[in-house]
Amino acid sequence: MQPISVEQFKDDYIKKFEQLYAYNYKEGTQREKFSALGFLVKNYYMGDWKDTVDEYRDEKKKQMFYFSMEYLPGRMLRSNLLNLGLTEVVEEGLQELGLNLDNITLGEVDPALGNGGLGRLASCFMDSIASKGLPGHGNGIRYQYGLFKQKFIDGHQIELPENWLRNGNVWEVRKENKAVVIRFGGEVYMVPDDHGELHPHYHHTQNILAVPYDTAQVGYQNDTVNNLRLWAAEIPYGDEYLFRTEEDRDGVKQITEVLYPDDSSYEGRLLRLKQEYFLSSAGIQSIVRYYQTLNEDWSLFADKVAIHVNDTHPALAVPELMRLLLDDVRLTWDQAWEITKKTISYTNHTILQEAMEKWPIDMVKDLLPRIYQIIEEINRRYVEKKLPLYGEDLTYRTAIIGNGQIRMANLAIIGSHSVNGVARLHTTILINETLNDFYLIYPGKFNNKTNGITQRRWMQISNRGLTEMLDDVIGTSWKKEPDELVMLKAYKDDEKVLQRLEDVKIENKKRFASYVKDEMGIVIDPNAIFDVQIKRLHAYKRQLLNVLHILDRYLQIKDNPEIDMPKRVFIFGAKAAPSYHYAKQIIKLINAVAKMVNNDEEINDLIKVVFIENYGVSLAELIIPAADVSEQISLAGKEASGTSNMKLMANGALTMATMDGATVEIFESVGEGNIYIFGLGNDEVQEYYANGTYNSHDLYDNNPRLKRVLNLLIDGTIPDIQQEGADIFDSLVKFNDEYFLLKDFDSYIRAQYKLDEDFKDRTLWNQMALMNIAHAGRFSADYTIMRYAKEIWKIFPRGDMGRTFLPQ
Ligand SMILES: *Cc1c(COP(=O)(O)O)cnc(C)c1O
Repeated sequence: MQPISVEQFKDDYIKKFEQLYAYNYKEGTQREKFSALGFLVKNYYMGDWKDTVDEYRDEKKKQMFYFSMEYLPGRMLRSNLLNLGLTEVVEEGLQELGLNLDNITLGEVDPALGNGGLGRLASCFMDSIASKGLPGHGNGIRYQYGLFKQKFIDGHQIELPENWLRNGNVWEVRKENKAVVIRFGGEVYMVPDDHGELHPHYHHTQNILAVPYDTAQVGYQNDTVNNLRLWAAEIPYGDEYLFRTEEDRDGVKQITEVLYPDDSSYEGRLLRLKQEYFLSSAGIQSIVRYYQTLNEDWSLFADKVAIHVNDTHPALAVPELMRLLLDDVRLTWDQAWEITKKTISYTNHTILQEAMEKWPIDMVKDLLPRIYQIIEEINRRYVEKKLPLYGEDLTYRTAIIGNGQIRMANLAIIGSHSVNGVARLHTTILINETLNDFYLIYPGKFNNKTNGITQRRWMQISNRGLTEMLDDVIGTSWKKEPDELVMLKAYKDDEKVLQRLEDVKIENKKRFASYVKDEMGIVIDPNAIFDVQIKRLHAYKRQLLNVLHILDRYLQIKDNPEIDMPKRVFIFGAKAAPSYHYAKQIIKLINAVAKMVNNDEEINDLIKVVFIENYGVSLAELIIPAADVSEQISLAGKEASGTSNMKLMANGALTMATMDGATVEIFESVGEGNIYIFGLGNDEVQEYYANGTYNSHDLYDNNPRLKRVLNLLIDGTIPDIQQEGADIFDSLVKFNDEYFLLKDFDSYIRAQYKLDEDFKDRTLWNQMALMNIAHAGRFSADYTIMRYAKEIWKIFPRGDMGRTFLPQ
């Protein structure tokens, strides 16, 4: 876009406000002031948006379409301003109008259209794809209600509906002309035409309209604006008479009403399946429709289109693309299958068995009869081809249909040309364990793409103090080339730089402390260690191990109130799936421990526990810059990658971690002197599983320090957790501690006390923080996305026909 002056901006803003509300901007509410600014910023990029999309079409560039059931973009105002290069102009202009950008920012809702890491990854990728000038777009669902709002009542999690669209959404553009029809249910018959070719005839289907709402994905100061397309379900125009009852109409609305608040297992399964097909079909139909406008031969489809499925949720893209190529385009099965495999790629996000999606055959058959026929045929041909090569065991284990179910991971792997894990360790586990059967059959499909984060949001927007410091010390090149953060290493012994780093951290801690004071009435000391664990509440992530450490510290202080120990604030942010009883019990426990610890005079503020309600992207932006310690303590082998680990290191927090997920790669980058590693490794965990010799009760009996801590759960010390305390105690001591907390307890405690000592040495600590920031560039999603572009999608940045690709 053309640069604009402060004067121009002020004029534009006043005009825009009055056009919208017909009164002076000074009378506006915070939300109205935001809306006016949002609409204005949107005006500024609309031209680039059209130009970008036109260019892709006119040059027939290969484009990538990312299918994800979840996105967690966070508030978009500051991101759009940063990427348009407008932050300073707008800040200054608003100030001259007597307004304040930070206040106005709070008028925007944070769209929680995802659960956690997977959704946030999709949004980091959208930002990086546009910022690298790559032709790539998102497809998702425009949920009427996002992830529930979390409240604590008596320490219990309560879920409230998140009606994020109540006041409209300035960023979206409804594209009625791009709507498509989705068919559910009914029957399908294959009827021969005059030439004897079979065509599907549908009867009694329910037809739903999928209407796209597009949101611009603005690239970082490169005039590129891509598209995020979110689909909403509606009654088709003219079909209102078919949906006469309230119930009929609700059935339509329901499809895009709520995000499933669970990332590992599914309730309300039929509706969830409907959502998955709705997204897959709407997205694929719009892509095929676009391709038809290009007038290209169908054999070139995979040269113009790449489709990526983010986890198996949109894996019905495989049979849906087959359906359109067979039934509408009328290609042969072999032609359609070659195109489908060449077009689609798939990311696996988890090895947890309970998260492996499977659908009962009858459910798929009833809801999607034509899709079921196609899946059955894919499976029949697969089995026919592989049986003679691999024998019965391997073939039937890897088949798509088995035990009365459709296995979505198998469908995604067989129907795609690339399967990637999200960190090196995770990919290794997929290859050697979880998906080893498939690796034997398709070794060439497997590859690793370690996750990344966008430093624009997680440093430039959320940590402006650090950004200024970095600009002053190493210049601004890191903003386009995050690897250049390594230049910071040259200042490792520069006392002034180290002091400034500490000053920035303290400022961020004060800002967070004042939020905690205002929202929770808890006073925390900015000089204490801010020890942060922020992520979904899940047993494998082991928030409970963190609690055991807190309880151990509590006992140490009670034993010896004069103990010499740096102050610590334990900060949690986590939502539990509403049906995940055990996770909710842990939430209750943490809140009870907080109540006990924070109100005990004898503890003398040496430790405090703060559980922030309703954790999400906006709170992450507040917490992460204030963190000294990043807790990444999942049982080794269970966390696919993690990305909060990357955000926190980039903001100078030191990582306390097991060798799991991408933390292994963080360890390699920063070196062992700049990270705290403890606990079992994946190999040791696997060995325990294999030989079955783990016995948590023995550890309880033989480790007096651990025993004292565990007894606190059941001896009435912690207020009001009779049931929770007993159940959690039993899970650890009686039911053999599935995630090896007791086994890792000693080494965790040791690492924590080592950390205490290091924190007292301010120079050492600041040096370690500096080294973490210096090595964070490697985890930029810009690099991750360039690897996807080059190795999987084969798409090229604008203005680059593939000559200068990866800086490697
Ligand atoms: C980054 C992020 C996550 C992922 O955290 P992990 O520790 O990797 O599980 C989840 N939720 C939000 C809001 C995030 O920003």
